[in-house]
Amino acid sequence: MKALQYVEVGAPPQVRDVPKPEPAPGEVLIKVTAAGACHSDSFVMGLTEEQFAQFGYPLPMTLGHEGVGVVDTLGDGVTSVSVGDAVAVYGPQGCGRCYQCAQGKENYCPRAAELGITPPGLGSDGSMAEYMIVRDARHLVPLGDLDPVANVALTDAGLTPYHAIKMSLPKLVPGSTAVVIGAGGLGHVAIQILRAITPATVIALDVSEDKLALATDVGAHHAFLSDSGAPGKIGEALGRPTVTAVFDFVGIQPTMDLTASLLGTESDQVVVGVGAGTANIGMLARPYDSAIRGPYWGSRAELMEVLELARAGLVTVETESFSLDDAPTAYHRLHEGTLRGRAVVVP
Ligand code: NAD
Ligand code: ZN
Ligand code: ZN
Repeated sequence: MKALQYVEVGAPPQVRDVPKPEPAPGEVLIKVTAAGACHSDSFVMGLTEEQFAQFGYPLPMTLGHEGVGVVDTLGDGVTSVSVGDAVAVYGPQGCGRCYQCAQGKENYCPRAAELGITPPGLGSDGSMAEYMIVRDARHLVPLGDLDPVANVALTDAGLTPYHAIKMSLPKLVPGSTAVVIGAGGLGHVAIQILRAITPATVIALDVSEDKLALATDVGAHHAFLSDSGAPGKIGEALGRPTVTAVFDFVGIQPTMDLTASLLGTESDQVVVGVGAGTANIGMLARPYDSAIRGPYWGSRAELMEVLELARAGLVTVETESFSLDDAPTAYHRLHEGTLRGRAVVVP
């Protein structure tokens, strides 16, 4: 079968012919119907040899941590899904037995690393292939009649912002304001989730005019260039200089510093982007009771909730699709920053 693999550190990913895998007992083989390309893949492929070694990912590795498909073959003993079921793959897999996993928060499993459990496409073979192995049927969430290509990105570009926003919900009351920094794959879904589940005024910031147009198209009340002029424009638009929550899908020093200038008492700073920016912490370094969090992906229950938002028509992912042969172009476009929404590879 064909797969898009990261083969050599620093080199672009390649489409290769690899053996079609067979499910071991307890595993499920799915025929992939769509796979999304995330900036985190670009981040991993941008690491130096030394940095990459710290992650311990074996190469070659099939990319893709957003995946949906149809159950193709059941490993021995699997009874909870059936051949032909349309499914979404829950990526941040854990041990299944610890306290976090018992709550469906496998994204926060403290044992995954020691047990060598890695998400598909981020340490083990992922979804950018004709078929993929899923370690356990519990990682498969029913997709139902949702269109695979239009909805595959919800497994990360939907789930991650949903989890990030849900933790701030008690603060996002009528009259509150939320800033989304970076209206790309995750950010443009974050804007829609904020509009769907909160009454907050939503402001988008980006460095690209095209992304600002997308932000407004998907529901942002205001969209401004992410530069030193942004705090002034936000203050003018809101009639006050601070906001309730900032969801930063970039996380570099300029966006961390921009966020610092927008925080007031009890504001939330939620850093989702993997940029290497840092923030000052301390009683006198920030407004009273302002919080900072760095959430990772989301729980299995939250994935089900995000899919329900899509079913209700409240979240629509903007997608540009690519064939598997053309998948390297998807990553090239992601790297260039010229995609509208998410790049989706359709094997
Ligand atoms: P993307 O490339 O689709 O979107 C990034 C957006 O940020 C683009 O629109 C870009 O124009 C904009 N941007 C770049 N610099 C900016 C700046 N200085 N100010 C404002 N906007 C700026 O990326 P994505 O796939 O949406 O991923 C976003 C980030 O989230 C990445 O860092 C990714 O690694 C990370 N991520 C984290 C998690 C998690 O669990 N924490 C999960 C998925 C992705
Ligand atoms: Zn991702
Ligand atoms: Zn666990």
